[in-house]
Amino acid sequence: MFPETDTRARAAAEASGAELAPAAKRDLLGKSREDLRAFMQEIGEPAYRGAQLYHAIYAERRFDFAGMTNLPAALQERLATQFRIGMPEISRRFLSSDGSVRYLLSLAGADAQGASEPPARVEAVFMPSAGRQTICISTQAGCAVECRFCLTAQLGLVRNLTAGEILAQVLLALEENRESPAPRTNVVLMGQGEPLLNYEPVMAALRIMLDQKGMGLGARHITLSTSGIVPGIERLGQEKVRPKQAISLNASTDEERDAIMPINRKYPLKALLEACREYPLGPREYLTFEYVLLGGFNDSTEDARRVARLLNGMRVKVNLIPWNPGELPYRPPSAESIDEFRQALFAKGVPAFVRYSRGQDVNAACGQLALSERGSLVPAIASSPSGPSAASSA
Ligand code: SF4
Repeated sequence: MFPETDTRARAAAEASGAELAPAAKRDLLGKSREDLRAFMQEIGEPAYRGAQLYHAIYAERRFDFAGMTNLPAALQERLATQFRIGMPEISRRFLSSDGSVRYLLSLAGADAQGASEPPARVEAVFMPSAGRQTICISTQAGCAVECRFCLTAQLGLVRNLTAGEILAQVLLALEENRESPAPRTNVVLMGQGEPLLNYEPVMAALRIMLDQKGMGLGARHITLSTSGIVPGIERLGQEKVRPKQAISLNASTDEERDAIMPINRKYPLKALLEACREYPLGPREYLTFEYVLLGGFNDSTEDARRVARLLNGMRVKVNLIPWNPGELPYRPPSAESIDEFRQALFAKGVPAFVRYSRGQDVNAACGQLALSERGSLVPAIASSPSGPSAASSA
């Protein structure tokens, strides 16, 4: 069930009890409870040890076998010679004046579905606020979708992330901020990448996040945002356990949307909204539509009225995100046009809220994640789950 990275070396090491080289160790991060149970049986241990391992990694956030006090010492030692919990390395931490932290993470090469993946870099953002913390995570390194208002698009797609690499961003951000945890954790899949183009690893990670015996997060507190990948929306709707669904709309006509989101040529508004109408919502569920307001482009009251017509009859809310000034050739909307847009939606019965992106001063805001090295570095932190702080050196 696990990809064999070096079967002969592992067999010899198992027989002799010798420690494998770090790169040859199998990574347990991202494995489900069933995987870990089966795996323990594979190495001659009772299956319930797999459930204990699962609890230690995801519920207790233990990334070192020696700290897994629910396992016997001999098993801790045995696991450490053969396996690893592959947490990413924090290359940099950028601290925003609003308290958000942007993490620049280095991912080692990964084994994904039998294929070897090259090292990559991604970003995650931790945003504390009263009573909760929100963690924005990446699902791919770079992105192939080419939204014109997004700096990540300029990276192109580097590679898909594994389930472990997706989960690790949440585990790591929580562990980094373990001294001041808020009672509620929100996770938004709005960092680098299009989640529905990396479907299986994203769902594998989400199942562990949403499992009450895993990370124990609430389905209402995790939001997956898509640029409008229609087959992915349809597939997600069929999942038994799934997060909230958000759709990045950003335009009121196909012509407008084609100009800023080329994915619209493949999945035009008619097909997208049809998939949304047919999305099987639970009694208290609704769809969220995100709308980045680009000054003078898509922020008129006519746009707002067309948006209201497009969403007519659906259980939705709209998040209006004023464009973050940056390197791309767009301008922020005026305060007046933001308000008029919101009012025009409200007048047509569409609940709309203005969401200002956080972390703009450290390139952590919506559309800004492009591995920038600019921003204030967090002063040295004594220790982190991925080892000594790298932030202090730069
Ligand atoms: S907005 Fe999202 S889907 Fe579009 S290019 Fe950026 S990361 Fe990709």
